[in-house]
Amino acid sequence: MAKIGFVGLGNMGFPMALNLKNAGHEVTGFDVSEAAREAAKSEGMNSSDSLEHVADGADIVITMLPNGEISKSVASQLLPSMQEGSLLIDCSTIDVASAKTVHQMAADAGKLCLDAPVSGGVGGAAAGTLTFMVGGSDQAFADGSNVLDVMGQKAVHCGDGGAGQSAKICNNMLLAISMIGTCEAFAMAEKLGLDQDKLFDVVSTSSGSCWSVNTYCPVPNVGPKSPSDNNYQPGFAASLMNKDLNLAMEAAKDAKAQTPLGAHAAALYKAMVENGHGDLDFSAMINILDEMK
Ligand code: NAD
Repeated sequence: MAKIGFVGLGNMGFPMALNLKNAGHEVTGFDVSEAAREAAKSEGMNSSDSLEHVADGADIVITMLPNGEISKSVASQLLPSMQEGSLLIDCSTIDVASAKTVHQMAADAGKLCLDAPVSGGVGGAAAGTLTFMVGGSDQAFADGSNVLDVMGQKAVHCGDGGAGQSAKICNNMLLAISMIGTCEAFAMAEKLGLDQDKLFDVVSTSSGSCWSVNTYCPVPNVGPKSPSDNNYQPGFAASLMNKDLNLAMEAAKDAKAQTPLGAHAAALYKAMVENGHGDLDFSAMINILDEMK
């Protein structure tokens, strides 16, 4: 069993840390929020009052934080107190450039590093069914696999440092585009007087089929259960999709990649958030289309 430090005990980090503790690992948690540290203690985890001490004697330190600036700042404070050869795994969703900087900082400090953002949301974190998209060396991936397997159902080693973040934003840009296309098709069908169950029957078994239609249909009571059947409570909030699309657009600019539909999707989700709908599931885009003339 490993000795694990866990930094960032929020909506995602807390259940991930708890799954590691319940699997028998020795987990010490740290968060800037005292309430989160107290909650960790009440669940039988160790809690540290400082970032430096969370790394004391740890084989692995995991971070689950809001953005790249915080990941870099936390890494710079953690790395000097980590043991030689130990592993830093950053599971936060952050920009590719910051992820590469964290890898370089770890290499300079003689520590191993993985960027390992997740898909699966809060439900997946609690159930231990996350998918990890992982960037880093073969050695780092081998050292981290056991703990990733506790927190998730699948970990894909995508390549060198930054590859996990690259995979995550490519996937989520495609998801945003396919969801908007799905919303447009079903909203147009309604205006054409077409029964939406019939459209679902056709599209879900035809060339337009995709995850946004088949398993996450944005129309209430059509297809399998999804957030549309629960007043669009997330699921995956539009504000988080907006965040990921901003990261995708930054990366596209740096890589000189042409992403005209990605840019359009980013503009639509930005407008959705600015219009006050950021807390709704991202599939609620279907109800927002009429606001976007
Ligand atoms: P959250 O805001 O609930 O949790 C972040 C935690 O980090 C908070 O508890 C905060 O107090 C703590 N924190 C902030 N700065 C800190 C610092 N300097 N040191 C220690 N702790 C600090 O966010 P979340 O929903 O848990 O998301 C975490 C990451 O996971 C984000 O990068 C997000 O994009 C990504 N993500 C979230 C979801 C989701 O559905 N919530 C899904 C996939 C990926």
